[in-house]
Amino acid sequence: MKVSHILQSVFPTVCAICGAVSEDPSIHICNNCYESLPFRRGFFVWGPSRNDGFRFCSGIFCPLYYEGRVPALIADIKFHGRRESASILGALLAQMLRRSSLAPTGSGAAPAVLVPIPLHRDRYRRRGYNQAETIAARVSAATGILLAPGLLVRGANTPAQHLQNRRDRMQMAAVFAASPRARGKVVVLVDDVITTGATMEAAAQALLLQGARAVYYAAAAGNLPLSP
Ligand SMILES: [Zn+2]
Repeated sequence: MKVSHILQSVFPTVCAICGAVSEDPSIHICNNCYESLPFRRGFFVWGPSRNDGFRFCSGIFCPLYYEGRVPALIADIKFHGRRESASILGALLAQMLRRSSLAPTGSGAAPAVLVPIPLHRDRYRRRGYNQAETIAARVSAATGILLAPGLLVRGANTPAQHLQNRRDRMQMAAVFAASPRARGKVVVLVDDVITTGATMEAAAQALLLQGARAVYYAAAAGNLPLSP
């Protein structure tokens, strides 16, 4: 009997959705709930040649639609601090990133770094943690891609509602500042949900202005009409 099996019988990994014992101790979700998740189909990375309205992005990783059980999972992380739910979403993103050219190969270092979208200081203080950071930490542990949270900071506070118009998006662009250490780096921005993409675009723009080589977006869920 392997140590992991013994640990699983004493301290079972429990499904964060239904509470059943997870068949795979490395992920807090049982097979039934996993099968019920609204997976986007196909290969979810595409290149900058496609005209999808993203100007600063080299590719997007987004395994799930924001529907079904997913909004509740994300609310669990944001408002109830449930790290098990972050661990599920991080594991799904990690599965995608491992299959991409951004993960480390053999003994070599990863060609990319992970940068969670920072929360504004006030919101961070109120909540005590950043859900994007929690997801990114899980992705890093599962892929070997290093975290580089210091590359991006947030300035002014912004309203939490979705930004619809062009002027709002331009105001958003001013709220991120990137470190000069971003120069030459391939960055994977990590967030829980991608809605309009305005937050990711603003962060990417700041990183590219500091000389980042390329920026990819990784969000656990989103309903954008992405196609391979
Ligand atoms: Zn379950």
